[in-house]
Formats: sequence, structure tokens, C-alpha cells
Amino acid sequence: MAALAEAEIDLAAIARNVRTVATAAGTPVMAVVKADGFGHGAAAVARAALGAGARWLGVTSAAEALALRSAGVTAPTLSWLYRPDEDFAALIAAGVDVGVSTPVHLRAVADAARRLGAPAMVQLKADTGLSRNGAAGEDWPELVAWARKYEVEGSIRVRGVWSHLADADVPGSPAVPRQVAAFEEALRIARGAGLDPDLVHLANSAAALSAPRTRFDLCRIGLALYGVDPFGGTGGGAVGLRAAMTLRTTVVNVKRVPAGTGVSYGPDHVTSRPTTLALLPLGYADGLPRATEGRAAVWLAGRRCPVVGRVAMDQCVVDVGDAPVTIGDPVVVFGRRCDSAAPTVTEWARWAGTNPHEILTGIGARVARSYLHGETEKS
Ligand SMILES: *Cc1c(COP(=O)(O)O)cnc(C)c1O
Repeated sequence: MAALAEAEIDLAAIARNVRTVATAAGTPVMAVVKADGFGHGAAAVARAALGAGARWLGVTSAAEALALRSAGVTAPTLSWLYRPDEDFAALIAAGVDVGVSTPVHLRAVADAARRLGAPAMVQLKADTGLSRNGAAGEDWPELVAWARKYEVEGSIRVRGVWSHLADADVPGSPAVPRQVAAFEEALRIARGAGLDPDLVHLANSAAALSAPRTRFDLCRIGLALYGVDPFGGTGGGAVGLRAAMTLRTTVVNVKRVPAGTGVSYGPDHVTSRPTTLALLPLGYADGLPRATEGRAAVWLAGRRCPVVGRVAMDQCVVDVGDAPVTIGDPVVVFGRRCDSAAPTVTEWARWAGTNPHEILTGIGARVARSYLHGETEKS
């Protein structure tokens, strides 16, 4: 059954973005495919990224890591957020590196490895100023000491040390060098305790493209992988990233209305002149935020047309003026296919008062994903 709307994913754009960032950063990249590849489909993005030279995959949860393995993706993979009672045996058996932030989780990892009779590959996470996950302050030497103890007994191997930046998307942010310094101190403590990590990483997309001292051995890229400028520009940014997702639908109803016609619930919007309204079959359940009201637009009939009135759960209304629109006409909600001046995901994020990540990961389950330029096609 065909869906009412479709997110078309250009895998050649994903591949190109991997090469673009790896070249700009001068390090290999970890393709961050958490949250189903930011809504693009984790396994498909992973394959495209690996094909273009990405060395690592990054996911949040154990379930996401194991789903990649079930899909046949065997590349080095790191996961980093766990239940308090996480069963680490499945991850270790699947050859997934475990990012560890607390001694509680580290003990559970070592226990699982001992039971399995195979050492766990661990990447210790330091909190260098984000105050989210990772071990900070006095907790770091303690975590490192436990890790060394488990390493000596043979239950784990500390492959990596890593951390995450708070605001690398703000050009010239003083927090970035502060976090680099804190990270270098954490590394010094880890090495001083006898650990010898050969994979040190800190940079996200913004840092990979702008902050050389954050790059170390690897850059973990999310937003740039998907072709979104991490600095908030509505195009591909200075390095020419290419948007991977195009959100498409079709007009499903058209009506000519007089001035003074109320549109959608409320109505918050009343037409000021005779005009034509086109109905689109996607709404906030599909990821178009209600908070965009009065600002959003789509590409239809060769131009940008405003979304008018409240976005409903399943549908929204576009004012096309006097354009000759008919049922079945194609609509681009966002994306950069066919060099049209269609809105970008970054514009949708601005209209909603949020970031592009939230728009991309909010694209709902009813929206079908389709893929262009997969492995077998020429990009
Ligand atoms: C999501 C995430 C990334 C990717 O961040 P971008 O800013 O989208 O590049 C990198 N590292 C970690 C730990 C993350 O959670």
C-alpha cells in the first residue's frame, strides 16, 4: 500500500557528505546513525557511509546496535546509553564496543565478559563540560582505575577515550578550547593509570568542520552526514554538504474559496482574498510541527506556497493563490532535489523554533522511506 507521503533518501548524498567531511577534517569519520539514522533509516545510511569510507558507526542504544548486526552490518560500532540493568553479553558477543560512563555499568560489562569468556571492547566517556553522560571530576580517575583493573584481569580492553562537545556550532565559542583542555587532562589521567587507548575522539559535525584541535583520531558526524549545515545555514554550508532527505507528498484536494473563508481549526487563518487552497495529507503525526503555524511553506506549482491555519494531526492546508493546482500535483515539503528553491529542513526547524535534528527524527512512521542511488546503482 503506497503511503500518503514519502521521505526520499539520496544515498549518494550520504556518501558524498562522508567524503566531504573526512577530507575537510583530515580524519576518518564515525557515521552516527542513532534514532534510525536521524530518521533516514539506520542500516541504509550505515551501508552508504561505510561504502564511502566511514570507519565506525555510532548509535545510542544496545537495541540500535544489535539491529544493525541483524541487518548484516558488521562494521565497528559504538553504543553509549544503557539501562541500569543492561545485559551487556549480547553486545559483547556481537562485537559492539561499549561506551561506558559509570563504574556501575563498567562492572556489569566486565561481569558479562567474564561469563562469556571474551573481553569486552570498552570506550570510556569523559564529561568535559556538557554535564550529561560521561564521568567528570573525581569520578573520572575512579572510572579509569576500575577500567585498568578489569583490563589487567582480562575482562575488558579499553580501546577508546571520548567525550562530547556542548556548543561547537557557535563559531569562536570559548567552551570548545575549555573542553579540549579538559579532555586532554582526562586523557593524561587515563594514560597515567596505565590505559593505552588508540581511538580518541571528541568532535561532532560542527567541530569536525571548524575546530582542528577537537579532531584527534576520529570525528563523529550526525548532522553533516545527512547534509545539514551544522552552523544553521539553510544551504550546504561552506564545504557544500548535500541534503539527503527530501520529504514529498501530493495534493489530495483543491478548492477555490472566497475572501473571508476560515481555514483549519479555530480558525486561526481567514483568507483575505479569493484564493485556491490545496490539501496535503500530512500533519503533526507525520512530523510537521504545529509550532510552525503562520511561517511554514512548501514547494508547489513551481514556487513556495504558505501553509495556512493550524497544522492538524494528519493534514495541512496550503494557499496557492491563483496557481492552477490540481489533485495529484507533487509537493516538496523540504529537500533540495532538482535545484528548486524548496524549503530546507533547517528552515522548517527555524519555523518551529527547534533544530534540524528534531525535525528529521520527528518524521513519523506513516511516511514511507525510499532510497535513491543505493549500492547497486551508480551515484
Ligand atoms: C548525536 C551525537 C553525535 C552527532 O552530533 P552532530 O552534531 O549531529 O554531528 C556525535 N556524538 C554523540 C555522542 C552524539 O550523541
